[in-house]
Amino acid sequence: MPLDLTQTVAPAVRATSGRPAKLSTPYEVWQGLSLAVVERVAGRWERTQQAYTAGRMEHYFSAEFLMGRALLNNLSNLGLVDEAKGALNAFGQDLSTVLEQEPDAALGNGGLGRLAACFLDSCATLDLPVAGYGILYRYGLFKQLFDNGFQTEHPDSWMEEGYPFIIRREQEQRRVTFADMDVRAVPYDMPITGYGTQNVNTLRLWKAEPIEEFDYDAFNSQRFTDAITERERVMDISRVLYPNDTTFEGKVLRVRQQYFFVSASLQAIVDTYVAKHGGDLTGFAEFNAVQLNDTHPVLAIPELMRLLMDQHGLGWEEAWTVVSKTFAYTNHTVLSEALEKWEMTIFDRLFPRIAEIVREIDRRFRLDMAERGLDQGTIEYMAPVSGNTVRMAWIACYAAYSINGVAALHTEIIKRETLGEWHAIWPEKFNNKTNGVTPRRWLKQCNPRLSDLLDEVTGSDAWVTDLSVLSDYADKADDRVLEKLAEIKTANKQDFAAWILEREGVEIDPEAIFDVQIKRLHEYKRQLLNALYVLDLYFRLKDDPALEVPKRVFIFGAKAAPGYYRAKGIIKLINTIGELVNNDEDIDGRIKVVFVHNYNVSPAEHIIPAADVSEQISTAGKEASGTSNMKFMMNGALTLGTLDGANVEILDSVGEENAYIFGATEDELPALRATYSPVHVYETVPGLKRVLDALTDGTLDDNGSGWFHDLRWSLLNASHEPADVYYVLGDFAAYRETKDQMALDYADQKSWQKKAWVNIAESGRFSSDRTIRDYADEVWKLEATPISLPETAGEKAAEAAEAAKETAKEAVAAVGEAVAKATGKRAKA
Ligand SMILES: *Cc1c(COP(=O)(O)O)cnc(C)c1O
Repeated sequence: MPLDLTQTVAPAVRATSGRPAKLSTPYEVWQGLSLAVVERVAGRWERTQQAYTAGRMEHYFSAEFLMGRALLNNLSNLGLVDEAKGALNAFGQDLSTVLEQEPDAALGNGGLGRLAACFLDSCATLDLPVAGYGILYRYGLFKQLFDNGFQTEHPDSWMEEGYPFIIRREQEQRRVTFADMDVRAVPYDMPITGYGTQNVNTLRLWKAEPIEEFDYDAFNSQRFTDAITERERVMDISRVLYPNDTTFEGKVLRVRQQYFFVSASLQAIVDTYVAKHGGDLTGFAEFNAVQLNDTHPVLAIPELMRLLMDQHGLGWEEAWTVVSKTFAYTNHTVLSEALEKWEMTIFDRLFPRIAEIVREIDRRFRLDMAERGLDQGTIEYMAPVSGNTVRMAWIACYAAYSINGVAALHTEIIKRETLGEWHAIWPEKFNNKTNGVTPRRWLKQCNPRLSDLLDEVTGSDAWVTDLSVLSDYADKADDRVLEKLAEIKTANKQDFAAWILEREGVEIDPEAIFDVQIKRLHEYKRQLLNALYVLDLYFRLKDDPALEVPKRVFIFGAKAAPGYYRAKGIIKLINTIGELVNNDEDIDGRIKVVFVHNYNVSPAEHIIPAADVSEQISTAGKEASGTSNMKFMMNGALTLGTLDGANVEILDSVGEENAYIFGATEDELPALRATYSPVHVYETVPGLKRVLDALTDGTLDDNGSGWFHDLRWSLLNASHEPADVYYVLGDFAAYRETKDQMALDYADQKSWQKKAWVNIAESGRFSSDRTIRDYADEVWKLEATPISLPETAGEKAAEAAEAAKETAKEAVAAVGEAVAKATGKRAKA
């Protein structure tokens, strides 16, 4: 048996800090405890990888993994929370303080990257042989601060001080070749523990390094700066995550990043195959499949063709047969600006061989389609290459054996519109996999009070790995349970109020309704609609100071892409409304606005358990799925939303009486748009004129940026584009009516808590365990592979002796070594 944390943590902390554990800082204790956790899983991690490489594996390729914090997740999965608490208490340290020291691993922008992280958790929990592959960005998503209400961006150097949960695998490095440089790809592996299982899966993140540590010739011949410059150019590849959510720029570097990680990953996968099965690659797809998370990793398709043909001697047809059984593609958006397109000249410049292969895919595609009798116009539209443009989504659709959307409505829209031509030819490739979120992080860990109640009501913790069991209790909440539920929400809101006061300096009343919208700032997500409501409510209160309204706190969290000025204007607007409302004596705290800066996974974990209202108000048809809607539901917040993305399925699960749905639907919008006049709405819907005029009449000050003027203009007058493309004004009246009603309904607490309970109980369908089971059964054809535990008493004793020999004799030495490694990493970074 491994040593327990009471034995390993103190030495690890001492080795980290060079001081007694009780004098170490909470940050040093975080480092030491994290090392001790890695030590604890090392044996089973190795065993799991051995077991997986023996059979069929799924490889999840994603340019983003929004992991958040790792320590509590691992402790909780391994059942070590109490042990860790005790170990720390023994030297006077407090676990929750220590947990708050951890930086978020924010290697993703938002929903897509967080989905990948939830999937890894579910795969490990389900003992599925799946590995994740991505990029070890030195700088994650930018850190957001507010300067006078304006967003400013700052580097997120999340691993500069060493990060205990990734292990550099020097011996598994690969070489990635570009026309203008060769790059060393060094994998850093992160153990992914599951809940209640021995299996430990892997997330492999690649870091780019120069082949030669340093060009000494250049150095000696005084070309010192050349040597540095070349080195930096290589390091650029994994330096920074692109902060564009759904749109793309920084083209050459971005394409380089994509090729870098898919090439290194495929080389490693192919090498493993050859080691196990020999050099004939025709059977590759029986043992390997790759899920492409959006189009970012689609270069894997021509890259696998290259490896199979140029390095393993397959002909084109043979290689294409393997490739078309290997890849499955997930589409994440209907926004056409997000379907990646690159200039062919970029491919020619970076990797001529890949460019050649892509042209050949295109040539054969055109022949294939002509044989199927498609007309020239359709062929030209669908072709992977058109003129100087490469269309990554089209390459994916042609090569993939499976194409999926991420919610029922989204899948219908891509079948009908976004990928309609592809669906017409290959309907059998298309399938839906509604997204999900892991109930470990998003319920058990972030909401321990509710988690305890669920244990109590259901009589066990089986719900943690089978969330669908909760639906048996949907109508079984008696008054005592509902009262308990209300108490839990209040306690969570008190905790959250303290957190907000400390973090944002704003005092909020836990008795108020907490109305929350947290997600990337995007026009289609319509934070502006929410802001206009708040401003309207403010004016209603100013008009009639005696107006009785339920006390409310409007909570926002959102980052805008740095170059997305209109989104930044909306952030400034919300902050300015907050300034106005929060400081108005007439309002007297009846409504408050809080913008949580630097929204990220760990803030989400503080916010969601305290929410009463979940704002999911995107223009119908625009949000592919959404996942924060599911996290809120699990924590008993009621959805205020449009019939968009997975909201449709949430409504289906809880029933109309347990959700607040408003607004135009996706199938109504085309007809509505045909006669839509935003100006007419502005003039006729009571209150709207005053609200929009406040943007430009001096009521709200944008500090000379002109951004508020632009916002008002975008809704009313935009000329080079249709005004109000996202139907903000069109849905305003319905939104206000529904939201007002919701606030009134809150007063009947018993009825409200009953609705909250139904939401929690019916959230099983939105566990990522369900999503992953569906992928594994229907797309990946993958079997669970639980690692075997030592069985006989003799085997157990032998293993215990082995572990004890290694751990006891060398406990301190081993920890010291790990720390030295972490420190080395620090020096290298
Ligand atoms: C869940 C999550 C998202 C996705 O939110 P949506 O509202 O579904 O867009 C984005 N960012 C973070 C940090 C998350 O945890």
